[in-house]
Amino acid sequence: MERSTIVRVHEGLHARPATRFVKLAKGFVSEIEIVRDGKAASAKSSVKLMLLAVKENQEVTVRANGADAAEAIEALIGYLENPRAGLDDESAPEAYEMPEPAKTHSSTNANALKDSGVEELSGRLRGIAASEGVAIGRAFAHFPREIRPQPHTLPAEGIPAEIERLHDAVAKVRDRMAKALADATLAETDRAIVAALMDIAADEDLIGRAERWIRQGMDAVSAVIGATDETAAEFRAVEDSYLAARTDDINAVGRQIALALLGEEEADLSGVPEGAVLIADDIGAWDLARAPLKRIGGVVCGKGGATSHIAIIARSHGIPAVLGLGERVRELAQATEVALDGSKGWVVGDPDEATRKEIISLAEEAATERTALAAFRDMIPKRPDGTIIEIAANLGSLEEIDPAREAGAMGVGLFRTELLFMRHTHLPSEDLQAETYSTLAKAFAPWPVIIRTLDVGGDKPVAGIEFPQEENPFLGWRGIRMCLDRPEIFKTQLKALLRAAVHGNVKVMLPMVSEIAEVERTKVLIEECSTELAASGTPFARFDLGVMIETPAAVLIASELARHVAFFSIGTNDLTQYIMAADRLQPEVAHLNDVANPAVMAAIKMTARAGTEAGIMVGMCGEAAGRPDLIPRFVDMGVTELSMSPSSIQRAKKTVSELSAELS
Ligand code: PEP
Ligand code: MG
Repeated sequence: MERSTIVRVHEGLHARPATRFVKLAKGFVSEIEIVRDGKAASAKSSVKLMLLAVKENQEVTVRANGADAAEAIEALIGYLENPRAGLDDESAPEAYEMPEPAKTHSSTNANALKDSGVEELSGRLRGIAASEGVAIGRAFAHFPREIRPQPHTLPAEGIPAEIERLHDAVAKVRDRMAKALADATLAETDRAIVAALMDIAADEDLIGRAERWIRQGMDAVSAVIGATDETAAEFRAVEDSYLAARTDDINAVGRQIALALLGEEEADLSGVPEGAVLIADDIGAWDLARAPLKRIGGVVCGKGGATSHIAIIARSHGIPAVLGLGERVRELAQATEVALDGSKGWVVGDPDEATRKEIISLAEEAATERTALAAFRDMIPKRPDGTIIEIAANLGSLEEIDPAREAGAMGVGLFRTELLFMRHTHLPSEDLQAETYSTLAKAFAPWPVIIRTLDVGGDKPVAGIEFPQEENPFLGWRGIRMCLDRPEIFKTQLKALLRAAVHGNVKVMLPMVSEIAEVERTKVLIEECSTELAASGTPFARFDLGVMIETPAAVLIASELARHVAFFSIGTNDLTQYIMAADRLQPEVAHLNDVANPAVMAAIKMTARAGTEAGIMVGMCGEAAGRPDLIPRFVDMGVTELSMSPSSIQRAKKTVSELSAELS
């Protein structure tokens, strides 16, 4: 028995919808398949279903065979046609994914890039200066053992016991995960990670594949590792960057089952001693979510760059970090003590007395500077003519609110909403977004929070948005361009922003603007959203709409643009790469990727003048906004808001407060 339909699930049968579909299918005894373009997959395996890569508006056939086939088809077709109806698991933990080390949203500076690559300098290993500050502490090596299965053939009579061992190991892993989920203190994001992994550990295709190999005589460890490798390879082969990024989850599950079979437990970071320096090749989402960040004195990794997730987390928690050491990180694994300078990008194991002294004195200097800077925490810095210069924070998640407030942030100058989208395996709902933005607005009221609308492109996987393969993703379908082409996604965000504006001083800015028409079209959508919210009786408030100035086109039309928006925020990271035609992540052109280059400074000056003459606020939210050497020039040009990583705020306040009245 079969029936065809057109899929109306926005995200397609990706992660969460796939899980729901499978849950529904498992409620029936019939064998059920879903067929797309002649390819069939079991409806009871979320792994198989995801691999089928069913997209919204595609035609599929649901085929069922068994006692309750008719009911199964009815229910599953019903879900595909109207996914929101009749589901009771809204409260189920959301599956989760940490952002991939981002290729786009770099906060690298030229020095960090120049210093990248490992080279030895008087016993020091050089890596990427990923989070400023120095640290010296006990080495805490975290190199989970690589599992090398020793394939052996089982005698026929040993096979049933080996299959039982596999199921016991799966049960043990799931049990451990269920216990973690039951822990009330588990943070929401951690819960989502565990739920996603648990779902994979129960997948009938994955476990079934391992079981089949055992039946053919393969030992359980080899079978599990083989099955997860094979499944991960299938995910990678589908031309879908989001699915490709799922391979880590699959491998993590395979690893845990294999360890359970070997009677071992995964090493975790919960035992990191106070002030220790964490040494690892890489820190995965699962480990990171459970790491006691408050206890970690410093981080050193073989992988990762200045824009990787661990770098962003380290920076927002003020943990010095040196990343990208490659294989040589393993040399540090034997060290008892490790010293690092996250500002300059070097690290040394078991430092000699001179290095210890140097680091300790740098740490003391930093502590003294911190104490001195703390005096600026609550000050409201002013330009010599009395104009307030707002020193605000760049944030990517609600977890960063506290460090920003503790640093004395006068609001938020850039909230990167893409992290909210990248953390979930489905598009975040209007309610979830409204709640997130409202929490942010309330935390900083009456200071403004400038929330940037979704800024993603083809180089970053986001569940539910299919990006084309692009030759030049930096010049492609990203930011406002993508949002205007996907109004259903954009309007959901705009409505959430209108709702959040009730709770504080919300301002909204558009990324990657290069034409006035983009602003005009956004305004039309905002009007539509307001009308729809009013019609449904949902409270909302208007917000100021601004644009990021990060393309040369925006600079060149800044005077005209200023008549259409309430403020500018200069995105120096992208502006520099586009003005200089130098990829912001390419070490070979790092010398060109310099915001202090006269060409970039001229563009900033033009923008500031255009904004000032039109009487709108000119802010800056690229990394350069926090540079004490450039702040005086920006303020002199007319920039009145500088938004930066929380760790730079107090120094920036000091710099502004010391500006001499001689500045014109
Ligand atoms: C910028 O381009 O300067 C900016 C702040 O945005 P992002 O780094 O997120 O691209
Ligand atoms: Mg940008």
